[in-house]
Amino acid sequence: MPAPFVTRFAPSPTGLLHLGHAFSAITAFDAACAAGGRFILRIEDIDRTRCRPEFDAAIFDDLAWLGLEWEEPVRRQSEHLKEYDDALQALIDKGLVYRCFKTRKEIAEEITRAPHFAPAGPEGQQYIGAPLGLADERAMLDAGAPYAWRLSIKTAKAFLGTAYDALSFTEETPHGERRMIKATPEIFGDAIIARKDSGTSYHLASVYDDALQGVTHVIRGQDLYHAAHLHRLLQRLLDLPAPVYRHHRLITDNAGRRLAKRDKAATLAAIRKAGDPPEEIRRRLGLIA
Ligand code: GLU
Repeated sequence: MPAPFVTRFAPSPTGLLHLGHAFSAITAFDAACAAGGRFILRIEDIDRTRCRPEFDAAIFDDLAWLGLEWEEPVRRQSEHLKEYDDALQALIDKGLVYRCFKTRKEIAEEITRAPHFAPAGPEGQQYIGAPLGLADERAMLDAGAPYAWRLSIKTAKAFLGTAYDALSFTEETPHGERRMIKATPEIFGDAIIARKDSGTSYHLASVYDDALQGVTHVIRGQDLYHAAHLHRLLQRLLDLPAPVYRHHRLITDNAGRRLAKRDKAATLAAIRKAGDPPEEIRRRLGLIA
C-alpha cells in the first residue's frame, strides 16, 4: 500500500482566480493524480467583509473548466466557525494567547517609538505585546471594546521548552526530495490568531482544517512559505499532525511582478471569454510545451 497522499487547493473568494491560482490548483491536482491520492477543494471564506458569493461561484466554474475534479462536499470555513473557536479555546486554556485591544494605529505608534525592537516580519513589523492587567481588561470588556487574540511567542517558548527549538517542518520538491527546515515562528512576533472581526484567522483555520481533512501535503505558493513556520508551531500547540510542504514558484506578469487582483487580463474568466481553451492555461504556465 502506498502512503496516503491528500492535498488541497484552498482559495479565498475575495476576487476572480487568476493564472497564479490556476498554477496552484493544477500543481496540487496533478500531484494528487500522480501519487494516486486525493484532491480537496476548500473555500477559505472567514473574512466576511472581503468574500463575495459571485467569486465563490466563479471558483467552481473556473476549476471545472480547467478540468479539475475534487471531492464533495466542499468545506466552507464560514460554516465551521465554532470549531475554530474551540481550537482557540484550547490555546486560551493553555494560557498561550492573550487579548489585544490595541488598534492598528496604536500598534504602529508603539512600533515607531521602539523600532529597534520591531524587525520586519512576514506580516509587517513584528509586534510583541502583553496581556492587560485583570482590572484593566475587565474594564475594556465591560465597555465592549473589540479585541484580537495574539499568540504569546514568549509563553509558547516557555510552554514547549527545548521542543520549541527542535521544531521543524519538511519541505519537499515535486520529485519528492525532502529538506528539514528549522521553524522560527518568532519571525511573526505575537501573531494574531483570532482577528477582531472574524474571531479566527487564516493561520488557525487553515492549520485546523488541514489536520481535520487529513491533508498530508500542503501545496501552495512560495508567498506562504513563511506561514509554515507559524503553522508548525500551531500544530505542535494544538497536538495536530504536521503535513509535508511543497511551496511552488509564483507566477508573475511580464514585468516580473506577482499577479494580483489588478491584473484583470490574467483572470481565468477573461482568458475563457477570449475563447482560449484550458490547455492554453497549462501552456502559459509552462506545464505543457
Ligand atoms: N486561502 C489562502 C489564499 O487564498 C491560501 C491558504 C493556503 O494555501 O494555505 O491565499
